[in-house]
Amino acid sequence: MSTQQLPANTIRELNESSEPVPFYEALRKALKKRKVKIDSVCPPADPVARRILEEYGAVFVADKKVKPPPVCVFTTEEQVAKFQEEAGVKTEYIAYDHVELQPEALKHLLKAREEAQKEGLDITPRDGAEAARRNYEDSVRLWNSRFEPALDYWLSQGRLTAEQVNRLRGLPLSQQVAEVLELEKTGIYFSKDLSKSILYSIAAPGTSQHIHMLAFDVNEFENPRIREIMAKHGWFQTVLSDLPHFTFLGLKEKDLPKRGLRSVEVNGQVFWIPNVVGTHPGLDK
Ligand SMILES: [Zn+2]
Repeated sequence: MSTQQLPANTIRELNESSEPVPFYEALRKALKKRKVKIDSVCPPADPVARRILEEYGAVFVADKKVKPPPVCVFTTEEQVAKFQEEAGVKTEYIAYDHVELQPEALKHLLKAREEAQKEGLDITPRDGAEAARRNYEDSVRLWNSRFEPALDYWLSQGRLTAEQVNRLRGLPLSQQVAEVLELEKTGIYFSKDLSKSILYSIAAPGTSQHIHMLAFDVNEFENPRIREIMAKHGWFQTVLSDLPHFTFLGLKEKDLPKRGLRSVEVNGQVFWIPNVVGTHPGLDK
């Protein structure tokens, strides 16, 4: 995900046009079609899994040509490698960078780029190869790039003791994530600028849409025409506040409310996030 940060007060909700469906209803339907149960994918009773689902879950309601992950949280490199192999990895060079995505996602990204180029614009990867596919280790490394400096900061501010910091560092990853999310409820934030949840700054280990090979970080995200072209080709922004990050859903924008997503505008950019009204932490601030 990105390092872009925004003040929370720039968030406002948009009015929906077509009949919105609650996310969990759309999700149950989508999973049923894929013959899987929500409990095996993302147990709703597990608060971390639930939070991940509500932040990054748009991929689960994507078009049937897209392969969503078998679990909300991958816990090993082997598990990620097996999923990526099953999903199929396609590669293309874009602006000299290696871009690896699920076949359908890459196909439509290239179409979007072609359309942009016809208008004298371009769509290129942000931060090189890291803009597209990532593996499990990448996600752990990126997590630590936020987790570690935040620990140092909160220690220096006296909000965490050396003992707490050492304990947090020593925890297994899944527990570390759970405790970070708990601390954030008390205002001890772990995002890059320490002002909001780490989940808007970087994905929890094993949960990134980049692992799913359904995400692409775009250099030209600030251009509204580029965002329009991406959307036309099934690429939407589904992670609130992550400004350069696009997710391949393979759907038409007008159908997104039926798929359990709702639109929210942040700084003029439209994000399609799981329609879980009232519980979305990003909108509660
Ligand atoms: Zn990203």
